[in-house]
Amino acid sequence: MRPSDFETSFISHAPGYWPAEAPHHWCDHKWQLRNRVDSLTDLENRLNLTDIERAGVLLAGHKLAMSITPHFFNLIDRDDPDCPIRRQVIPRIEEGWNAPEELADPCGEDSHMPVPGLVHRYPDRVLFLVTDRCASYCRYCTRSRVVSGVGEQHLETQWEAAFRYLEKTPQVRDVLLSGGDPLLFSDDRLDKILTRLRTIPHIEFIRIGSRIPVFLPQRITPELCAMLKKHHPLFISIHTNHPRELTSEVRAALGRLADAGVPLGNQSVLLRGVNDSVEIQQALVHKLLMCRVRPYYLYQCDLINGSSHLRTSVAEGVSIIEGLRGHTTGYAIPQFVIDGPGGGGKIPINPNYLIDTSPGRVTLRNFEGKVFDYPDPSPMPREAMEKLQHQAFSHADD
Ligand SMILES: *Cc1c(COP(=O)(O)O)cnc(C)c1O
Repeated sequence: MRPSDFETSFISHAPGYWPAEAPHHWCDHKWQLRNRVDSLTDLENRLNLTDIERAGVLLAGHKLAMSITPHFFNLIDRDDPDCPIRRQVIPRIEEGWNAPEELADPCGEDSHMPVPGLVHRYPDRVLFLVTDRCASYCRYCTRSRVVSGVGEQHLETQWEAAFRYLEKTPQVRDVLLSGGDPLLFSDDRLDKILTRLRTIPHIEFIRIGSRIPVFLPQRITPELCAMLKKHHPLFISIHTNHPRELTSEVRAALGRLADAGVPLGNQSVLLRGVNDSVEIQQALVHKLLMCRVRPYYLYQCDLINGSSHLRTSVAEGVSIIEGLRGHTTGYAIPQFVIDGPGGGGKIPINPNYLIDTSPGRVTLRNFEGKVFDYPDPSPMPREAMEKLQHQAFSHADD
């Protein structure tokens, strides 16, 4: 997998499969949401499905809905069943099989909720699940047990109880809004939530996790940016996996957020057949920097039910990071993490550059494989101390 020109430059994705639509419709986020591809008929009218996908779409109706914005759908290569965009959003039959290591709630979130919808796993920060809906659904969603509204379990955020918990828990200084996708809310509704959080003095830092800038860049309006700006310090973590997702529309949307002073990070999930090569990851992180987005985390795909066809080995992730470190800008390199099953939290995984330790020294290797012996600090010898004291005081007598 080598990135093509299409993937290393910012190309517009004006109407392709919706040729009858007027351009102003295409730019209207409400039109984009109303015209999402969410049925087998709609999908089959627009591209040739394989049997593997057709069965997947039929099964998805009872697990995690299919829904794809026209903007994102337009990035799919119609003739390539292995298209990396297609694998992220079009269900496949493999989703129906749960490997023995897989779970419905792989990060143990349900058992770390003091209030429904609020996950308090780390000492000083919480994950606030504010909605179960997204603009489009990722087939490897870590929260597929509750997201999209078609599964057996439902997210029931208890707003008042959640705000009261935050008010009486002063160790919480960082609130991460996620879901679902918080940017699906209207400006007004989001403004009210952020305003309420900002009345709590110990909440210093607010973050929003959202794939809307990628699925629905039209939603990032100047009005939304002006509203967000009132609630600083506010960061946004976006989610992109493949360089093709960074179109000229997405770059403009990210530019509007960055101009509103919102620091941007990216979270990617390492996915088989989507972005499991150094070439693709490098093209992605370079484009992210061009969009003023700092690559933040590269996640090992969670052990979510029906995900084995999309997951990679841990060793593959390590070798991708090894292929980036030293070979490109330090700012471009995300931290590879595994979210520990059952609520272990994010565990950083790094290539090993510390190859040996012995008393007083370590042996290191660099990105080219050169080996370096590196000493710990030496204690100052008593004789050197005495000699210098003697010198210093003899000058003072002059
Ligand atoms: C990811 C996560 C956070 C935020 O973690 P950071 O490492 O600070 O980005 C907080 N709470 C939960 C439950 C999370 O899964």
